[in-house]
Amino acid sequence: MAIQHKWGMVIDIDRCTGCQACVIACQAENNIPVNEKVDFLSRRAKQWIRIDRFWEGEYPNIKARFIPVLCQHCENAPCEPVCPVFATYHNNEGLNVQVYNRCVGTRYCANNCPYQVRFFNFFNPKFPESLKNQLNPDVTIRSRGIMEKCTFCIQRIRRAERTIEGKEGRVLNDETMRDGNYNPACVSACPTETLTFGDLNNPNSQVVKKSKNKRNYRLLENLGTDPNVIYLKKVDPHHQKEGHHA
Ligand code: SF4
Repeated sequence: MAIQHKWGMVIDIDRCTGCQACVIACQAENNIPVNEKVDFLSRRAKQWIRIDRFWEGEYPNIKARFIPVLCQHCENAPCEPVCPVFATYHNNEGLNVQVYNRCVGTRYCANNCPYQVRFFNFFNPKFPESLKNQLNPDVTIRSRGIMEKCTFCIQRIRRAERTIEGKEGRVLNDETMRDGNYNPACVSACPTETLTFGDLNNPNSQVVKKSKNKRNYRLLENLGTDPNVIYLKKVDPHHQKEGHHA
């Protein structure tokens, strides 16, 4: 019987060191052009996952904190109803999908996204000669005028399915599509295991187990977007002593 996935991610910000390995892995995997200084200065830099930094405490007892932010793949995604050509929609696996060749570039979706994770191609992408051979053939290169964003590396999920069904001739089920067979690039690259990806419909998956942690919350929860990305807040030593956290 076909399995109905609901892909999701848990991000434990207590583990994030802000190293940005996930950002670079995402750029390499998804054929995102290299950001140069001028791109940042003109606010045209593209990163499907970004590390937001904030400060906690008062000088001199101040600490830098990091929080990775990517498309939250909301169940009630504000970007979807405003697209006039249905280029962005929710698929039956819990993913907020972007169809590049439908996109007409109105940018309504980016304006309606409270997480600011959608990026518009203001220019045709350019890659240095030395990087041309490392472009990922599984991912298209988006041209000028197209909106793009995190896909949870859907090409990796599809590759895992093709390998299991096609190459290995096995049946697709929760056992064969198990954790670790289909991690997005950011998850594979993270040295601290901040990011956990998996099927929210599979009660035995790591993502479900971790999402039940008492530290869980969702970004801008009060907006009712119902994201499939779940955050675990920083461990607060004072609260921990009082037994507030798992
Ligand atoms: S790779 Fe992991 S630790 Fe480094 S910034 Fe990304 S989420 Fe944080």
